[in-house]
Amino acid sequence: MGSAKPRMGQAGTVDGLMEQLIDVGATVVSRGFALASGGNLSARLPGSEEFVVTGKGTWLDRLEPDDFTVMNLAGEVVGGNPQPSSEWKLHQRTYRVREDANAIVHMHPQHAVLVDALGHEIRLLTLDHAVYVRSIGRTPFHPNGSDELADTAAEQAKEHNCVLLAHHGCSALGEDVGMALRRAMNLEEAATATYRALMLGDRTTRFPASADEAIQHA
Ligand SMILES: [Zn+2]
Repeated sequence: MGSAKPRMGQAGTVDGLMEQLIDVGATVVSRGFALASGGNLSARLPGSEEFVVTGKGTWLDRLEPDDFTVMNLAGEVVGGNPQPSSEWKLHQRTYRVREDANAIVHMHPQHAVLVDALGHEIRLLTLDHAVYVRSIGRTPFHPNGSDELADTAAEQAKEHNCVLLAHHGCSALGEDVGMALRRAMNLEEAATATYRALMLGDRTTRFPASADEAIQHA
């Protein structure tokens, strides 16, 4: 996962956050986790009432600083691109319930959406899945950009750092941009592994409970 680490922008500045998100956008698209203008990204400085979010219709692999909208937790545009992503509420509502979250990666990963749509649980199989994903929340399908989607996802985010949005994508959050990306990527890797396990006829294997116990106390 080392190559996926976003380049560090100027630490502790909004410009630095945008630099990191631009890098994340390129990674997400190059790995096939979002197509065209699908998916959106956001981040804030720790403790801030404002966050930056990718603008409406922006392509994640072509982001520039001017593409980002600055919004506050009340959902008002306070700077930058006047048109935020149509999915800005997904970010705003989650920040409102998770003071510790400073970045959200929302992407449309194929295996996670497919495995869930076919009625299978996404299983955590490796140490990385167990450590980074930990647990997966889920929302039923709601239209993108809707209050229902944003509110149900935020409700799930109270207990989970990764939330699967049925027939749509996922939302992963972290204390910084790097951790949100790591979680999103590990969620999709777990889904890919689950898909392969199902193809081999396996419906039960998962990261051992005893090992899970051990890493909790490590
Ligand atoms: Zn989406």
